[in-house]
Amino acid sequence: MSAPSTTPRPAAANSVWPRLEPLLPQVTKPIQYVGGELGAVVKDWDAATVRWALMYPDAYEVGLPNQGVQILYEVLNELPDVLAERTYAVWPDLERLMRAHGVPQFTVDAHRSVRDFDVFGVSFSTELGYTNLLTAIDLAGIPLLAADRTDADPVIVAGGHAAFNPEPIADFVDAAVLGDGEEAVLEITAIVRDWKAEGCPGGRDELLLRLARTESVYVPRFYDVDYLPDGRIQRVVPNRPDVPFRVHKRTTMDLDAWPYPKKPLVPLAETVHERYAVEIFRGCTRGCRFCQAGMITRPVRERSITTVGQMVQQGLEFSGFHEVGLLSLSSADHSEIGDMCSGLAQQYEGTNVSLSLPSTRVDAFNIDLAQELSRNGRRTGLTFAPEGGSERIRKVINKMVSEEDLIRTVVTAYTNGWRQVKLYFMCGLPTETDEDVLQIARMAHEVIKAGREATGSKDIRCTVSIGGFVPKPHTPFQWSPIERPEVIDNRLKLLKQAINADRSLGRAIGFRYHDGEPSLIEGLLSRGDRRIGAVIREVWENGGRFDGWSEHFSYQRWVDAAAEVLPAFGVDLDWYTTRERDELEVLPWDHLDSGLDKDWLWQDWQDALSEYEQDDCRWTPCFDCGVCPAMDTEIQIGPTGRKLLPLTPVNGLKLPAGTQH
Ligand code: SF4
Repeated sequence: MSAPSTTPRPAAANSVWPRLEPLLPQVTKPIQYVGGELGAVVKDWDAATVRWALMYPDAYEVGLPNQGVQILYEVLNELPDVLAERTYAVWPDLERLMRAHGVPQFTVDAHRSVRDFDVFGVSFSTELGYTNLLTAIDLAGIPLLAADRTDADPVIVAGGHAAFNPEPIADFVDAAVLGDGEEAVLEITAIVRDWKAEGCPGGRDELLLRLARTESVYVPRFYDVDYLPDGRIQRVVPNRPDVPFRVHKRTTMDLDAWPYPKKPLVPLAETVHERYAVEIFRGCTRGCRFCQAGMITRPVRERSITTVGQMVQQGLEFSGFHEVGLLSLSSADHSEIGDMCSGLAQQYEGTNVSLSLPSTRVDAFNIDLAQELSRNGRRTGLTFAPEGGSERIRKVINKMVSEEDLIRTVVTAYTNGWRQVKLYFMCGLPTETDEDVLQIARMAHEVIKAGREATGSKDIRCTVSIGGFVPKPHTPFQWSPIERPEVIDNRLKLLKQAINADRSLGRAIGFRYHDGEPSLIEGLLSRGDRRIGAVIREVWENGGRFDGWSEHFSYQRWVDAAAEVLPAFGVDLDWYTTRERDELEVLPWDHLDSGLDKDWLWQDWQDALSEYEQDDCRWTPCFDCGVCPAMDTEIQIGPTGRKLLPLTPVNGLKLPAGTQH
C-alpha cells in the first residue's frame, strides 16, 4: 500500500502529526488517518473552554458515516467556546507502530492526543466494540480503569444503544448517557465549563458528582452491586446520598429544532455509506420483541416534511453527495412518507441524485415508494424483513407479516421490474425449532415460483440473509435464553440443504448467514454485569481487537477468557447466555430507566410465549408500555398539514474541490 499524498498540514497545538506521518507509509489505507474531510472542523485549542474527543470505536470506514457522532460533532462545534474532534479505532498494523514509536491515540481533525481533551465521548452501536475502547484508552495513555484516573485524564463518557447497559464496561468508563445525545452533550458541556471556570473544585470526583446529579448521566462508581450466593444480583444501590436511585434516558422531542447534520462529513477514503442521510423520524412502536432500537427510542417523533426537504437540499448542496437516504427504523411508517417521496422524487427528477429508503415493511405500498424513488432510472435493492420463517415464530416475535403478504409484495416487485430482492430472517429466536427455520426454504421456493409465474421469466432471484438473534436489555426478550452455537449452525445447515433440495429453485436463491458463535458473545456482553469487565480485559490483553469483524473475531479467545475469569465469581459463560431469567431476578440494568415499564415488558414476554400479537399504538389505543408517561409526552405523528417547500434541485451536482466519489 502506498502512502497518501501528505500535503504539509499546519502544526496545530499539541499535534502528533510530525510523529504520525512517518508511520503512515507502512500501514494499510493510510488516508483514513489523515483527516481534512469536507465538513471537518479544526478550531483554536487555546480559545476553547471545553474540548471533546468523539469516538466511534470501529475503523474509519464504518465510523465516519455514523450519524450519532456526526450530529454531536456539529452540535458541539457550533458553540463558539467548544471544540470537538473525532477519533476512530486504528487497525492493528498502526497500533503496533504507534506503540513502538510512542504515538498516542489521536484525533483525525488536528491530530491531537486524546488524553489532552476534557471529555472523551464514545458512541457504541454494538457491544463488540468494547475491546476497541480498551485499545483507544490504553493508546491514549489514559489508565484503563476509571478508578486509577486523575484530574489530568479526560472524563470518558459512553453513549449509543449499548450504553443502555454499560455495566460490562463500568470499570473502564467514567459515565454513560442513555438516549438522545443532542441536548445531553450541551448539558454536560455546561457542567464541565462551570466546573473548570470555578477552578475545578473537588477535582474529578466533584465533576462526576455534578454530572450524576442531572439524573440522566450514570456514573458507575457511585453505585455498588451486591450479589446473591448463587451469582445473581441482589441489588444495585447508590453508595452516596446525593445521587439518584435510577438514571433516566434523554429524549429529544422536537426533531425539527435539531436539523442535523447540516454539514455532513464527506469521507476521503472509502466508507460503508457515502450518502446524505436524513433521519425522518425517531422511535418505533411496531413492537418487534427482539428489537432493542425500537424499544429504547420510543416514543415516535416525526420530523416534518418541510424540514426533511430543507435538510436534503442543504445537505446535498454542501456535500456534493449523489445519494440521499431517508432513514429511520421503519421509514415507510412516516405519516407523510408518500408525499415526501413523491415530492422529493419530483424535485430531483432529471438530476443525478438518487433517493432511497430502507425497505423493510412487507406491503405493496413499499413498492410504490420504491417506484417513486427510482424515477430517475436508478433502482436500489429491495429488502424485506419477515424475520421469522413460520407464521408461529412471527407471532412470537410480533412481526405481523403473513406469507401471502410477503409473496404478493415480492411478486409485485418482480412484475415492476426488480429482478432481485433480499429477504432477511433471524435464527435462534425464542421457542424456535428446526421446523420454524426450515419454513424459510419453503417460503423462498414459493417466492421464486410465484415470481416466475407472474413474470414468465426465469431471470429472477432472491437472497435469503440470516442473522443470529441476540437478546437485548430493555426488550421483552431480555429474559430469554440464547440458543447454543452448535444448534444454530446445525439449523442453518439443514436450511441450506432444504433450499437446494429443489435444484431448479435453489439456483435462484442466494444464501448468506452468520454462524452462531459471535451472537453468543454479543449476548454475553449485551446482558452482562460488572463481572464481565474482567473478561473483556482478558480478551483484550490476549489480542482481542475489532470483534465485530469476522476475520478478527476469535470465539475461542472469549471462551478461554470466560473460563479463566468467571469461576472465581461462581458463574460461567452458560450462566450468562443460555440461562433463562425469571421474573424476580434483578437485571444488571434495572436501575437504568429506558422509560419502559418492567411489568409491561414481562407481560409482553409472556404474550410472546403464548404467541399473542401486540398492535402498534400509532393506530390503536395506548397499551401502556410506560414510555409516554415516563417522558411526560405522547407519540408525535402527522399528518401535520405542512408541505414540502419548493426546492432548488442541484442539477448535475458539482463536487466541491478536493472531494472524491
Ligand atoms: S405509552 Fe402508550 S402511546 Fe406511548 S409508546 Fe407506549 S404504548 Fe405507545
